Amino acid sequence: MNALFASVRYLKGVGPRREKLLQRLGIRDVYDLLWHIPRSYIDRTETVKIRNLPVGEVASITGVIETVRTSVSSRRITVIKAIVRDDSGVIPVVWFNQDYLKNVLKPGLQIFVRGKVNPGYGQAEMWAYDYDLIDKDKTAAEPGIDPVYPSTEGISQKVWRQIIRNALEEYAGIYPEIAPPGTKEKLGLLPARQAFWGIHFPARWEQQELSRRTLAFEELLLLQLAIRREHQSLRDPQVKGVKNIERDDLVSRVVRGLKFSLTGAQKRVIAEIFRDMEDERPMNRLIQGDVGSGKTIVAALAMAKAVSSGYQAALMAPTEILALQHYKTLKQVYPPDVRVEVLTGSITAKRRDEILTATAEGWNHILVGTHALIQENVVFKKLGLAVIDEQHRFGVSQRALLGQKGFRPDVLVMSATPIPRTLALTIYGDLDISTIDELPPGRLPVKTLALRELGRDKAYRFLLKQVKQGRQGYVVCPLIEESEKQDLTDATALYQRLQAGIFRDHTVGLLHGRMKPAEKDRVIEDFRRGKIDVLVSTTVVEVGVDIPNATVMIVESAERFGLSQLHQLRGRVGRGAEQAYCILLGNPRTDVGLERLKVMERTNDGFEIANEDLRLRGPGDIWGLKQHGLSELKLTNLWKDSDLLHITRDIAAQSVSLPDENRAIQQLLNKKYPPTENIAAN
Ligand code: ADP
Ligand code: MG
Repeated sequence: MNALFASVRYLKGVGPRREKLLQRLGIRDVYDLLWHIPRSYIDRTETVKIRNLPVGEVASITGVIETVRTSVSSRRITVIKAIVRDDSGVIPVVWFNQDYLKNVLKPGLQIFVRGKVNPGYGQAEMWAYDYDLIDKDKTAAEPGIDPVYPSTEGISQKVWRQIIRNALEEYAGIYPEIAPPGTKEKLGLLPARQAFWGIHFPARWEQQELSRRTLAFEELLLLQLAIRREHQSLRDPQVKGVKNIERDDLVSRVVRGLKFSLTGAQKRVIAEIFRDMEDERPMNRLIQGDVGSGKTIVAALAMAKAVSSGYQAALMAPTEILALQHYKTLKQVYPPDVRVEVLTGSITAKRRDEILTATAEGWNHILVGTHALIQENVVFKKLGLAVIDEQHRFGVSQRALLGQKGFRPDVLVMSATPIPRTLALTIYGDLDISTIDELPPGRLPVKTLALRELGRDKAYRFLLKQVKQGRQGYVVCPLIEESEKQDLTDATALYQRLQAGIFRDHTVGLLHGRMKPAEKDRVIEDFRRGKIDVLVSTTVVEVGVDIPNATVMIVESAERFGLSQLHQLRGRVGRGAEQAYCILLGNPRTDVGLERLKVMERTNDGFEIANEDLRLRGPGDIWGLKQHGLSELKLTNLWKDSDLLHITRDIAAQSVSLPDENRAIQQLLNKKYPPTENIAAN
């Protein structure tokens, strides 16, 4: 076996105890260690005297810890405050929610801290971003750039640096070069070995950046190869797909029954889908259409065509709310002879069995559901079409699994989240793309206003006015500190405040992720029927909910949301003929934060917003792409490295047979993208 994949246990400085600690961070072998990228760096080349610290800015100091105090704030945040002194003065340094530091920060230790200098009450204080304990034996006169690693209790930064240095010394040299010879040189990139050294222990910032870009190339190339492998297995030329030949006039009956006429864009996209479906080659198509562009009906017609041709269809949605909404829509648009069922995680076992049997025997035509649909015991008699709504919530392997439910069903994925075309092609490889680039007629663009939190009263008074005119509104609270509990308290508290206060003469509803599916459905239904005027919610309403009478969307702490997420939320309103409004409440603390909210005011174009998000936020979970492998990209900045996206895609395309022939690639792929293993995680 390749020594890169040997257990960390055998590495100098690790041993069984640390092995356990490392495992907590998902680090099992040397490969994982090399890719354990510093979360930041400490640049000791530029420190400031405490007396000269610039208030309101980020700066670095070195000094000695005098005292350390821990307290818990009223909102249950642990605050650790250390008094740090240098020869010019003292300053309190504050850490939030890092309990374990109690055992790390001790009086008498030399410390380096980088942080934001805040005016505080009476005395300035520093909110720490990074810190580093300075070794006694390391002279202060040795300035440098030190890595700071994502860590866990029990491993100090000093130990990290030692372990990683050992790993580099022994193993960086055997890291395989997987790009065709000469490619990297042409791009001005480094050999992998040098790049690992340069990312962990850069001597200069330029070296760090070049190393980062090199490793971005490495991880992008691997991702592209993984995608190719995936598509090859999905597109086995031996297997023929289904060929849809309609046997009756179901499709035109559905179209005639609609309360509206299809937009030109809808017609065009439907024609594209139908052409695919009539072809024996399996369809693999992505429908992109901004929020409210009317994707559901497009899916409904595609499914009608499959049913009319003697096949079954499946529609998979990311949440129960949405699955139920789709189910109701389909019941409405189809004549009664089309049999539709919905399968969610919450129905009784008996009902579930009935549905499963009806589906397995082919009696049921269309099955709607959430992830429940890809569970093993769901069997179709003749699945001809699988539609996946809001696909960004599903992983590649989940799609593949649903695809395996038929012989080789056609697959249609629908996304409201606009992904720039190059990125879409990267993620989906050879997926075909159709775009619904037109909204139904008569829609007024949503008017958007970003307000400081001081403007909150004004926002709610505006909502009240709309409610009095018979309209409805959403109020969305963010997920705070990723704690669902906190999240819930905030939404609940707001709900109570609004109901008892400004909306006491109206009905306020509450919706959150902890409610049972049946309860959620009841609340949404009440809102749909107008029994609820104002719906306070956590982000569960984000995707797909369609209630045209709602005209106001208020987002609390809007700065905590991604732009595309805000765009999705905004898309919940403006779905009817009335003018709709989106009010973003928030106190962005940074210029970028402010600029992001400005983008929302300026444009309603989902594609532009996605690009801005990319530019302003850089990589990360921009489109909820967690499961696409993109979140596996630790070093790629999708904005800066967009050229590498193309380049690596081309390289992967040219090496069609490469993954099988090249052992090194094979090993890296199996390590990083084990075939369909990550399903359980979702
Ligand atoms: P999304 O693309 O965001 O999933 P939906 O499919 O939920 O959008 O459609 C949004 C709303 O627009 C629904 O109420 C739907 O009935 C309506 N709609 C869809 N197509 C048209 C059309 N051609 N004309 C008028 N209204 C339409
Ligand atoms: Mg939708």
